Amino acid sequence: MVTIAVDGPSGSGKSSVSKAVAARLGLAYLDTGAMYRAATLWCVRTGVPLEDAAAVAAAVRSMPLVMGVDPAAPGVTLDGEDVAAAIRTTDVTAAVSQVATNLEVRDELRRRQREIIAGEGDSGFSGGRGIVAEGRDITTVVAPDADARVLLTASEEARLRRRSLEVHGTADATSVEATRDQVLRRDRDDSTVSTFHVAADGVVTVDSSELDLEQTVAAVLTVVER
Ligand code: C5P
Repeated sequence: MVTIAVDGPSGSGKSSVSKAVAARLGLAYLDTGAMYRAATLWCVRTGVPLEDAAAVAAAVRSMPLVMGVDPAAPGVTLDGEDVAAAIRTTDVTAAVSQVATNLEVRDELRRRQREIIAGEGDSGFSGGRGIVAEGRDITTVVAPDADARVLLTASEEARLRRRSLEVHGTADATSVEATRDQVLRRDRDDSTVSTFHVAADGVVTVDSSELDLEQTVAAVLTVVER
C-alpha cells in the first residue's frame, strides 16, 4: 500500500494535481482542506461561535463527516448531506483559517485523516493500492513516513491567477486584485500553524509556476517513481 503526501499553499494547483496523480496510479484521494472547510460549515450551521475555541473543538469532535476518496468524484458528506459545493463559498473560505488554527480541531482532524489513510476510516476506503493525501501538513505531521512527499509551490503571481480563474472564472487584472487580499491573508493566517512554503527534510519541491497541469503531474510522478 502506497501513501503519497502533497502539501502546498492555495493556488499551487495541489488539488487538481493530486487528483490526477491518484487517478493515473489507481489510488484513492483525500482532500484534507475539505475537512477543515466542512468543520467550519458545521460550526456555522450548528450555531457555534467561531471565536469560542472550546465549543468549536467539541463541535468538530462530534461532526458526522464522511469523506469520499474517489479521485474522479471525491464527495464530502456532512450529516448525510452532500456539501461539496457548500464548503467552497467565499464565507467558508474567509472563516476556515480561524477553525484550522484551533489546535484541538487539528488534533481531531489529523486523527481522522490518519485513520482514512490507513484504510480504517468510514470513507469506504479500506486500503486498496494506497492513497494520495493533500493539504498543508501531510508531508510533515499527518504522514511524515509517506512513500513520496511533495511540496507543490508556485509564484505568487501564478497562484493568484489560478485562484482568480477558479473563483471568478477569469484572470483579468480586476479579478486577480479581488483575489489577492483573500489569498494572502489566508496564507498568513495558516502560516501560524503549518509551514507549507518551505520543504521539510526529505520533501521534494515541485515548482508549478511555469508548468501546465499535465507537466506538473509528470513532475510529481517522477518523484513518486524515484
Ligand atoms: O486546500 P484548501 O484551500 O481547501 O484548504 C482550506 C483551509 O484548510 C486552508 O486555508 C487551511 O486553513 C486549512 N488546512 C489546514 N491543513 C490542511 C489542509 C487545509 O490547516 N492539511
